[in-house]
Amino acid sequence: MEDWVAIGYLLSAALFIFGLKKLGHPKTAPFGNQLGATGMLVAVLTTILSMEMQGVVEWPVIIAGLLIGGLIGLVMAIKVEMTGMPELVALFNGFGGAASALVALSEVWTYIENSATPPSDNLTIAVVMVAAGLSALVGWMTLTGSLLAMFKLKGGFYVPLTKKDERGRRKWISTPTWGPTWLNPVKVILFIAVLGLIYLSIESPTNTTYLWGIIGISCLLGIILVLPIGGADMPVVVSLLNSLSGIAAAFTGFIIGNSVLIIAGSLVGASGLILTFIMCKAMNRTLPDVLFKSFGGSGEKETLTRTKVGSDPDEVAMMLDGAQKVIIIPGYGMAVSQCQHQVKEFADLMNDRFDTEVKYAIHPVAGRMPGHMNVLLAEANVPYEQLIEMDEINPEFPDCDVALVIGANDTTNPAARGDEGPLAGMPIIDADAARSVVIIKRSLSVGYAGVDNDLFYMDKTMMLFGDGKAMMSGLNSAVKEL
Ligand code: NDP
Repeated sequence: MEDWVAIGYLLSAALFIFGLKKLGHPKTAPFGNQLGATGMLVAVLTTILSMEMQGVVEWPVIIAGLLIGGLIGLVMAIKVEMTGMPELVALFNGFGGAASALVALSEVWTYIENSATPPSDNLTIAVVMVAAGLSALVGWMTLTGSLLAMFKLKGGFYVPLTKKDERGRRKWISTPTWGPTWLNPVKVILFIAVLGLIYLSIESPTNTTYLWGIIGISCLLGIILVLPIGGADMPVVVSLLNSLSGIAAAFTGFIIGNSVLIIAGSLVGASGLILTFIMCKAMNRTLPDVLFKSFGGSGEKETLTRTKVGSDPDEVAMMLDGAQKVIIIPGYGMAVSQCQHQVKEFADLMNDRFDTEVKYAIHPVAGRMPGHMNVLLAEANVPYEQLIEMDEINPEFPDCDVALVIGANDTTNPAARGDEGPLAGMPIIDADAARSVVIIKRSLSVGYAGVDNDLFYMDKTMMLFGDGKAMMSGLNSAVKEL
């Protein structure tokens, strides 16, 4: 039987690793996802088998857990809109961190109650308390940080039980971005305090005060780490929290002696960290800059003072007539309006009618999650070779007849080239270097970082005000009538 457990864990670890490898390319990513999910199923079944062997299986508890967890997951997966995915990912990161910390806590608690052997026969109490302390630190920090990140991505939250307004919504509290410089030494002091408490808990493992102290301070740390981060830097913090949830799982795997948890946790931790550095590079910041310099600004949105007259699809279609090169710049608005199929139809039309070369400029942080635009355009069967990354496509804009911006804002905002504000230093798609620019969005309003965009007001820019899907459909009809 023990051999079967070892084989089960080995199989699930192999499935995780191959799944992760397949996730590296959009074409193979769905299969990679299935491999990962199968790996998780094998891991769960093997763990139950292993518990059965040890005679510790409580079937009612396991079945209740599977039913409740499965049902919540199913409802969330069915209900979530594509635009709500980032919040869901942030929430799952937090749940992952909390689950790991709770398992570690229960192991240590069992030990405290029995005051006997350490949780795992092979480990000394010092190692167990250090691993449990670190799991608590990372896990609880991930929970509170992720919950705050989720509300920041949503822009705020409704307060239950308050009076509804005329649109049927309850009181809305927006999530602040707040990070005075004195908060940085506080973070360091709290971090050292947790390490101190972990040390004390080794000296006196049965004293639960230290344990609660570690949990309380870690929760606070999660909040004050994420509170100052806002604006365009949110992708970095979300991927960092994802990495932390994996690290917490790895620590917990170590305490309960579960090899697959150590492997899966390390994979999530390492891949999340790599993604964090990719996001930092995309934002042209270092990780300490994001964590300690509070680029996000106050979180307040700029007040708009300028106006611009809008165009209509017929006018834009006439300008597109005979264009040799068009670069499409998709952004969050394309995800909201779900117009990727109309965008693909437009590219095909331009190609068939005018032999126009059409490419897509993909900014690494466009949308609300890494790879957001790639996923949407792949769903509409846009050939992967046409999706060109920012650094590669930017030199092509001076030769581009029309830059068509669809629901992108921050990622094209020239304000990022300055030294001030939440976008400062972020590389952007050089749409303003194209001969003409067409922008589809509903109004002149600011993007996620809250900064007004000079691109809208340039003489060569035509604004098509309206929902992405409606405007793209209108544009396609107008092009067909040319
Ligand atoms: P932005 O979020 O800057 O702007 C999106 C624009 O889309 C808005 O200005 C909005 O204008 C428009 N829009 C919204 N709904 C519609 C609709 N139905 N039809 C047409 N337009 C619509 O987009 P970008 O993609 O350029 O930038 C992404 C931002 O999000 C960056 O700041 C990035 O850092 C941040 N972010 C990214 C994450 C990631 O992992 N990728 C995670 C978290 C944050 P209007 O209301 O006028 O229509």
